[in-house]
Amino acid sequence: MGGLEASATRDARTGVLNRATLFKLERRDFALARRSGARMSLMMLDIDFFKTVNDQHGHQSGDEVLREIGELLQKRLRRTDIIGRYGGEEFLVALPNTGIEGTFVIASDIRRLVSDCHFSTEDNYFHITISIGLAELDHKKHQTLDKLIAEADNALYEAKNTGRNRVVAYSAGEGGAVALPDTYK
Ligand code: GH3
Ligand code: MG
Ligand code: MG
Repeated sequence: MGGLEASATRDARTGVLNRATLFKLERRDFALARRSGARMSLMMLDIDFFKTVNDQHGHQSGDEVLREIGELLQKRLRRTDIIGRYGGEEFLVALPNTGIEGTFVIASDIRRLVSDCHFSTEDNYFHITISIGLAELDHKKHQTLDKLIAEADNALYEAKNTGRNRVVAYSAGEGGAVALPDTYK
């Protein structure tokens, strides 16, 4: 990374792809998976109580948390995974050729790694947690990327509503989001 190209595709604060590039690359991978019948999963991550981090430790500490999470995602995920900043404190990852079971293992690992991080302020330190929603491409159901994103979003909503600091996978068969056993919790 570096130079003009990096600033055009990457989010300056977190180092992951910016929103425009994220969607461009995800749409491309989605189309490829649809054509070939390959598996593909999405991971939607949202920092828990991030407003409180800003309020209690300052906006700069909040920015530092975003930077660290961006770095951690890039370290833990694969080069072929598409990692981007979806919103203020939300990240979206597309995992090509990956089913929901494999995605769940990686997501659980990321959730645990984040909860183990120490963030320092001048006179103190603090911890944060993240909630993660997962969805896998269903070739019959998901004609558009938006539909798949909506399911990952539903799963994230469920993770928030059932206590946060957890991973929830959308299960098509059960008609809703279900929490698979999180072996790391
Ligand atoms: P929840 O557990 O339900 O996700 O609660 P939350 O506090 O994380 O969610 P909420 O949507 O209420 O707050 C998100 C906060 O993220 C508010 C906003 O100020 C902060 N935020 C968004 N972008 C940035 C940023 O670039 N830097 C910093 N420091 N804060 C940001
Ligand atoms: Mg949010
Ligand atoms: Mg949040």
